[in-house]
Parts: sequence; C-alpha cells; structure tokens
Amino acid sequence: MRLRFLGCGDAFGSGGRFNTCFHVESGVGAFLVDCGASSMIAIRKFGIDPNAVRTILITHLHGDHFGGLPFLILDAQLMSRRTAPLTIAGPPGLETRLHAAMENFFPGSTKVDRRFPLEIRELEPRMRHDVNGIAVTPYVVKHACGAPPFALRIEVDDKVLCYSGDTEWVDNLAQAAKGADLFIAEAYFAEKPVKFHLDCKTLLAHLPEIGAKRVILTHMSPDMLARAGEAGCEVADDGVIISI
Ligand SMILES: [Zn+2]
Ligand SMILES: [Zn+2]
Repeated sequence: MRLRFLGCGDAFGSGGRFNTCFHVESGVGAFLVDCGASSMIAIRKFGIDPNAVRTILITHLHGDHFGGLPFLILDAQLMSRRTAPLTIAGPPGLETRLHAAMENFFPGSTKVDRRFPLEIRELEPRMRHDVNGIAVTPYVVKHACGAPPFALRIEVDDKVLCYSGDTEWVDNLAQAAKGADLFIAEAYFAEKPVKFHLDCKTLLAHLPEIGAKRVILTHMSPDMLARAGEAGCEVADDGVIISI
C-alpha cells in the first residue's frame, strides 16, 4: 500500500497546506481518505487521475474534510468524463449534507444525469464494513460538526491504516488505532488543550497504549507547525509518499 498526502493542512491553509486528502494505492484500487475543499487543486498539482479513484472515505462533515466532493463530482461529469462507478462512504448525514453543499455551490448540479454510477454509503459506527474490498471500521470521536465524527480504521492489503480525523482525545481513538501499521493523527496544537481538537502532548502520552508501528502528525496549526521539528514524531507534508 502506498499513501500520498495530497493535503495535510487545517481548515485555514496554515503553512500553505491543502485541506485534508490522502491518496492511497492498494491491491483493491486507489482510494481517497477525506476530500477537503482544496482537494481538486491538490489532485491536479500532484498529477493524480481522479477517474482511477474508485472509493472516497470521509471522516466527518466539515468543509476541510468533505468540501472537495462537489468539485470532484462536477469534474467527473464535465472535465474528466468519468464512466467508472464511484463510492463515497462516510458518517450518517453524508448524503443530505453533500446534496446541500452541491446545490449551494453549483445550483442544479444534483439534478443532471451522470454518466457514472455514484453510490453514497452512510456507515454505522463500530461495524466492519466492506467498501469495495476495503475493510472500514468507524469509531465515533468528539468533534462538533453536525453529524457523528469518525476516526477510521482501514484494513487493506493485510495492513492497518488509522486516521484520527479531527477530535479531542477519546478512548475510542486508542481502539481505532490499536497496533496500526500507520496511524495518522491530528496534532492541532503543540501543548494547548483545545475543545474538539487533539494536541501533540496529549497524543504522545497515549501512544504507548496504542502501540502503532508508525505515527505521522497532520492537521497542524501555525503553533504546531513552528514546533514540528521538536514534535518527537514524524510530521506530514503535502506531496510526501509513504509505503506501508
Ligand atoms: Zn479539519
Ligand atoms: Zn473538523
């Protein structure tokens, strides 16, 4: 499995980074984890073929994590001329919120006939779902976004990838990431505890109980970016490729 950070920024472009979007190439095809508002720009910048992406997994319904979907779906219709099926899987509420986002950004865009089948799946927490050959187990975390926010445990090619999404520390996170080959974790601030977000100090304190083989920090504020060198952990950067 090969993962590329297309975007590892926060909602506000801190450090000039794109909103969250990870591109994974696996034995069951290519998929994205989150598709933040700037993701089509990142897809073009890093030369990714959007038509080859079979599945998109969404952690939570904030614009910097799912706001790129209207652009990607419209691109598939109008520019990339997609014909292959696309599955988007995420939390309960995904279908309604995506519909609203599309109609807000591009009125009428939900009503046109598409040349490709689009399947929206709303995942039940704590169930191991088969999404196009990817085993996805969502765990509810703590982050106000108008719908249940997820950390995702993703099993593919006999490897385990966990992404925390955005959340303050909850014990569910330890279960989601337990023994993962790669744990991508939010580290919004270095030390300052902030409601609904994870700080690096709290995360580091919990790493022994998680036992992940590799940990990479993402979604960093200017405060955390300035101290990334002393984080005591690997940190993500846009464009970086990781072999798992
Ligand atoms: Zn975010
Ligand atoms: Zn968020």
